[in-house]
Amino acid sequence: MQGLAAQWRKAGKSVGFVPTMGALHRGHLELVRRSRRENPVTVVSIYVNPLQFGPKEDFSQYPRTLKEDLSFLKKEKVQAVFTPSDKDMYPQGFCVQLEVTGSLVRGLCAPYRPGHFNGVATVVVKLLGAVQPTKLYLGQKDAQQAAILGQVLRDLNLGVQTVVCPIVREADGLAMSSRNRRLTPEGRRIAPTLYRALKAGKRLVDFGETKEEKVLAEIGKIIREERKIRLQYLEAVDPVTLQPASRIKPGTLVALAAYLDNVRLIDNIVV
Ligand code: AMP
Repeated sequence: MQGLAAQWRKAGKSVGFVPTMGALHRGHLELVRRSRRENPVTVVSIYVNPLQFGPKEDFSQYPRTLKEDLSFLKKEKVQAVFTPSDKDMYPQGFCVQLEVTGSLVRGLCAPYRPGHFNGVATVVVKLLGAVQPTKLYLGQKDAQQAAILGQVLRDLNLGVQTVVCPIVREADGLAMSSRNRRLTPEGRRIAPTLYRALKAGKRLVDFGETKEEKVLAEIGKIIREERKIRLQYLEAVDPVTLQPASRIKPGTLVALAAYLDNVRLIDNIVV
């Protein structure tokens, strides 16, 4: 076996892999810690993948804090950090682009970010080839990404198990994200509205509501009260197939994307 993890795998050690785009925060940290608990070896990658950004998206503004990230990971005692360059990842002549098809890319972020999940699938499969880990650690924060990657790994028989970790939030409920640091102080104050609204929707379900329109209307109403937030989508779906859920039941995934201060935020809740 080749790959970054080969020496450890040959020695019979399981290797956990946490792919990131850097600007690390406590959300990433929880993935790293989970991997550290479950494997003797943890490898983290930091790579802002141009393939997954659309031409009008925030690739150039995406925060890059490599020095801080490396010292953060040193404290966490990970065995290796992989920081490839664009040339390492996509050298001249690179000719592969995976295409994700079917119901997993029919809704949620996919219609608003054409090609995004193809770019994500391509880079993650490439990173898995370079690292060759035993397990792949992903965050529920990007629920659609986690569902898609789980399916891609099964479809391609990559023999890597995915582990999906819960969303890590700030004390006021805002889901941690590298993009949060681009919010203005006012935006940062308003941003927890998204999770407050999702929780209000969950409360309705806890009290027996099963109609999708009612639950989504409640969530949408709370968000629209904040004039600065522009909701992009709000959908209730099956958590595995991501097919629209007309009746909400325990386990249904309610997910949204919204713009605030020109920053695109995503969040979700399992009701
Ligand atoms: P990113 O650097 O944004 O590409 O994220 C790298 C990994 O960290 C992905 O699997 C994300 O889902 C996960 N992640 C990012 N933010 C959070 C969070 N707040 N809670 C849990 N996982 C997260």
